[in-house]
Amino acid sequence: MATTLKYLRRKAREVSFGGVSIGANHPIAVQSMTNTPTADVEASVAQTERIAAAGAEIVRLTAQGKKEGEALGPIMERLKADGNKAAIVADIHFTPEIAMMAAEVVDKVRINPGNFRTSNGELERLIEICRRRGVALRIGVNHGSLAKRIFDEYGDTPEGMVASAMEFLRMCRSAEFHDVVVSMKSSNTRVMVHAYRLLVEAMERENMDYPLHLGVTEAGDGIEGRIKSAVGIGALLSDGIGDTLRVSLTEDPEKEVPVGRLIVDHIAKRNGEFEVAASDDYSPTEFKPRTAAKPITHSEITDEYVVVDAVSNNPTHEWRAAILNRQDRLPVVLRRSYEESDPERVGIFAALDMGQLLIDGLADGVWIDAPALNEAVIEDMELMLLQASRLRFSRTEYIACPSCGRTLYDIQSTLATIKARTSHLKDLKIGVMGCIVNGPGEMADADYGYVGSSPEHITLYRGREVVERNIHQSEALDHLIEIIKRDGRWHDPK
Ligand code: SF4
Repeated sequence: MATTLKYLRRKAREVSFGGVSIGANHPIAVQSMTNTPTADVEASVAQTERIAAAGAEIVRLTAQGKKEGEALGPIMERLKADGNKAAIVADIHFTPEIAMMAAEVVDKVRINPGNFRTSNGELERLIEICRRRGVALRIGVNHGSLAKRIFDEYGDTPEGMVASAMEFLRMCRSAEFHDVVVSMKSSNTRVMVHAYRLLVEAMERENMDYPLHLGVTEAGDGIEGRIKSAVGIGALLSDGIGDTLRVSLTEDPEKEVPVGRLIVDHIAKRNGEFEVAASDDYSPTEFKPRTAAKPITHSEITDEYVVVDAVSNNPTHEWRAAILNRQDRLPVVLRRSYEESDPERVGIFAALDMGQLLIDGLADGVWIDAPALNEAVIEDMELMLLQASRLRFSRTEYIACPSCGRTLYDIQSTLATIKARTSHLKDLKIGVMGCIVNGPGEMADADYGYVGSSPEHITLYRGREVVERNIHQSEALDHLIEIIKRDGRWHDPK
């Protein structure tokens, strides 16, 4: 049966909070999160205002404990006095009491269902405060921090993430509270894309239309972090999924905002419809590669591969239709020309355009045709794109948290130092996380972890096992390298 592929946004209900509306026909809102200690009111107000000035419509602050919860009131007052326009969100991971405290002052509260009980009336009490004050609620599921009972039934899977979200959504619905937003974040782009798609299916089955907040967690920094975020977010936006987004970078939060804006503007330009003549055995929630060919960059093309160009403003659907319409199963390389001379912009655009096809296993190679960039830069970006889509691992994978008010050391410079010494270890995943409370869960499938455990002290992990506890950061990287050497996984750079 013939189908038409085009960019079409999913219809979500409108949710409004703090003067911002998302869902329905509202443009996709861009947000970021402070990394100042929330209890430091001055610093948090100043950074919130910088993030808002960079163009964010929504700003989130962590409220992990009582002192941070208590700081939210004065922060809100100061922001109001300064004429702040951004909606303010409190991020709660563990303590329901702090969620209630936050709901009394902020515009939206994010809770992690992995850490909230459903049986003791906590959620109902929170909902009543939100309803009374017109506060929205985000059900923020994270791969790596599911509740034990969900984990035992589903494992750490997209299905488990969906089960966790749906349980909370049903409770909100039975309380007739609908100012709800949902997120299903992961640092693994494939898990993230599948989780959101499964969630949309599950919501549709139950006639729910809550808006979605998109994000790839722990994406890292630089072009690599931007490409990884754009692959995951872009794949879903191309599906029409997503009403607000955050690009998580291990950089100053103000830098996340222009990247988010670039993503939104690039996707908004999509037009053009493409016919697909035949149905195929493609599944949006299972990774079934179309061919068994090696994923390649443009310099590796052989006769075996065919190059498919996209020239319209909607390259994702143009390529998709062209690939699905092919009668053969020859491996396909996606090629597109980019005029820009800024490598970050080229990398983000290519990731947005190509990401969905790579995540879905429909394409086998990438060709970024950017005459203004040098060949080595292009080659490197193509490898990053294949790695971000989890098709080919050519460098150490860093799962680095963006940092927040809980971070216990200078994560930006530490990540740079760790990268400088370990980036040649291409088969390793290293988690670099700011705090021990969320870090170990959220670095999910990392081989090694470098996690802040007290101010300027680090606990080192092998997988989920603690290997060395609370060592000073001045020695921690040497110790990590020693552990990798002892495990026989080290080699010197070439
Ligand atoms: S892991 Fe990083 S971003 Fe997450 S709570 Fe800890 S410090 Fe904050």
